Amino acid sequence: MTLTRITAGKNEISLSPKLNLLTLSFEETAVFLEGLGWKKYRAGQVLSWIYKQFAADFDAMTDLSKADRHLLSEKAVLSHLKVVTHQKSSDGTEKFLFELDDGKQIETVLIRSEKKRRTLCISSQAGCTLDCNFCLTAQEGLKRNLRVDEIINQFLSVQAVLPEEEPITNVVLMGMGEPLANLKAVTAACERMISPVGLNLASRRVTVSTAGLVPQIKTLLSGPVAVNLSISLNATTDEVRNRIMPKVNRLYPIKTLLAACREIPLPPRRTMTFEYVMLGGINDTLEDAARLVRLVKGIPCKINLIPFNAYPGALYEASPAPQILKFQDLLHRHHLRTTIRKSKGRDILAACGQLNSAFEK
Ligand code: SF4
Repeated sequence: MTLTRITAGKNEISLSPKLNLLTLSFEETAVFLEGLGWKKYRAGQVLSWIYKQFAADFDAMTDLSKADRHLLSEKAVLSHLKVVTHQKSSDGTEKFLFELDDGKQIETVLIRSEKKRRTLCISSQAGCTLDCNFCLTAQEGLKRNLRVDEIINQFLSVQAVLPEEEPITNVVLMGMGEPLANLKAVTAACERMISPVGLNLASRRVTVSTAGLVPQIKTLLSGPVAVNLSISLNATTDEVRNRIMPKVNRLYPIKTLLAACREIPLPPRRTMTFEYVMLGGINDTLEDAARLVRLVKGIPCKINLIPFNAYPGALYEASPAPQILKFQDLLHRHHLRTTIRKSKGRDILAACGQLNSAFEK
């Protein structure tokens, strides 16, 4: 009998042309393999090869018989991202430009920090839905949402080129795109990252960053995937936020966004992070700092100040370092946990706000 379709839950999955196993949930993978006449436990065997041993193809799955590997390769494939460029910064940061199967390009950044932390900054869209005008990605516009396999494949592709003793320890969805504008694929990717059957990262090591799409924040945090949430706030008045993040702030102004943050129950001992890009003369006065203290009052949070990373043609400049320190000092005096992000990968345009696949060309 030739198997052409399988049913997993409510979903009908076509096997023609070959099925991309990375688009399937774990349950769907088990159903697919059962459809091939395999025992249920063998799904664990195949998933372990994909998510723990980073097998590039079925031939690498050496504890499957030759006949089984052949059958798998007749019915299915494992999709890959094509590496277009792989740049290394003088500070150890690495930037990958990947090509998708329709020729669109995305960037992924590996950031190494002290304490043996290796954080992968993953893209969720090719380009971006939003138009934050301090960000280079915004200039690309939205090309399309990434599929779940394209999100997961950024992790698998980078891990595959790292030595075994250098596992990726953290993931931030802060690369190109607004993750919550691609909620379904992002949630499915996060599930695979934190599942023991998948990449098995602790949920506190996975962070989703949003410019503030309120309904999607509520959906994400009320769902089963208890990842960290980071909100890109960047201003303390609607006047400034409308100027620097026009699309999102007109939909969800500061008051609406922070009311939602107050309402959402966080898991025990978790805090939210507010990212604040420091733009010289725009949002970096001590009045801004005092307003910020009042705005986030009552929300379990930490503030991450990000010195603006300039790029050719940028509309803004970075706040001077002494101003950032004064801003931080005022927040500290009001007992707000505040860090200043150490920018990494500036020399290869891999730092926050500098990602743009067109710039590579
Ligand atoms: S800052 Fe984030 S949400 Fe805003 S345009 Fe850039 S990638 Fe999109």
